[in-house]
Amino acid sequence: MPRTVITGGAGFIGSHLCDHFVAAGHEVVCIDNLLTGSRDNVAHLEGREGFRFVLHDVTTFIEVEGAVDNVLHFASPASPADFERLPIQILKVGALGTHNALGLAKAKGARFLLASTSEVYGDPEVNPQPESYLGRVNPIGIRGVYDESKRFAEAMTMAYRRVHGVDTRIVRIFNTYGERMQLDDGRALPNFITQALRGDPITVYGDGRQTRSFGYVSDLIRGIDLLLSSDVWEPVNIGNPVEVSLLQVANEVKEATGSRSEIVFRPLPPGDPKVRRPDITRARDLLGWSPTVDRAQGFERTIADFRRRLRAETGAGDSA
Ligand code: UDP
Repeated sequence: MPRTVITGGAGFIGSHLCDHFVAAGHEVVCIDNLLTGSRDNVAHLEGREGFRFVLHDVTTFIEVEGAVDNVLHFASPASPADFERLPIQILKVGALGTHNALGLAKAKGARFLLASTSEVYGDPEVNPQPESYLGRVNPIGIRGVYDESKRFAEAMTMAYRRVHGVDTRIVRIFNTYGERMQLDDGRALPNFITQALRGDPITVYGDGRQTRSFGYVSDLIRGIDLLLSSDVWEPVNIGNPVEVSLLQVANEVKEATGSRSEIVFRPLPPGDPKVRRPDITRARDLLGWSPTVDRAQGFERTIADFRRRLRAETGAGDSA
C-alpha cells in the first residue's frame, strides 16, 4: 500500500486529492494547519482506515513516522483575496514550507510533487501560455507574494532534484473550481455563485473583458495522478483551455442559478492578469491528459454544492 503525504490536504484541492488517493488504496497522511483549509472537507474520511489527519503548520519541521512514498505539497492560501489578507503566510509556506516538504521527501526517498500555478506566468504577453514562457511578474505588486513564492518553490524543487536527486514533479495549475471551495474564498466563481444564490449583486471587477480558463476539479485531480505516475519532471500545465470573459462567466452563473441578482462593476485589482489560458500540448502529449468536464456541467455541480452549504449555514433557503 503506497503511503502518500498531502500538505494542505484539508483545502479545496488537497481534500479532493485525499479522496482520490484513499479510493486508490493509498495510506494518506493529510497535513494542514487549517489557515484556509477546513476539517469539514475531510470529515467524511476521518476514522477511515488508511486516512490520518495531522494538524500542523508545514513552515516548521514536518515529522512523519514510517515510510513515505509520495509527498504532494499543496499547502498555500491561493485566492487573490488572501494575497492581501495573508501575504507573509503565503511567502512562508511557499519558501519554508516547500523546503520542509522537500526535506521530508529527501529523508524518506519519496517522490515529490509541487502544486505550482499559472501565476508563475504573471500578466502574460503570450496567450495561451506554454510551459516554456518565462512569465511577467511584478515582484513588488500585491500578487507578487504568491507568484514569487511559487516561482521560488519551483526553483527549490529543481535544486533538490539536481543536488539531492529527489524525484520531483511540478504541476502548474490554472483556475480550478468545484465542490468545497470556501464560500467566502474571494475568487470569482465562489463570489459569483454565493452572490447569485443570496440575491446579492454579482461583482464583476473592471469591465469584465479580462479572460480566464476555468477547469473543473475532477479533471485536475486526474491530471495530477497521471503526472505523479509518469516520469515527467518538467513543469506541466493542467487547466481547461476554453477561454472566457469574466462578464460571460457572471452571466452564466446568473443563468445557471436562476438568480435575479444584478451584475455590477467594481474596480479591477492592481496587477490583475488580462488574459490566461493554458497551452496543454505537453499534458496531452506526455500524459495523454485533456479535460472532459465542460463549464455547464462543472458549474451545475458546484452550484448544487454551494446551495447545500449556504442552506446549512443560514438554516434558510436562498433567494434564487
Ligand atoms: N473577479 C471578479 N469579481 C469577483 C472576483 C474576481 O470579476 O468578485 C475577477 C478578477 O478580477 C479576475 C478574475 O475574476 O480578473 C479571476 O479572479 P480570481 O480571483 O478567481 O483568480 P485569478 O485568476 O485572478 O487568480
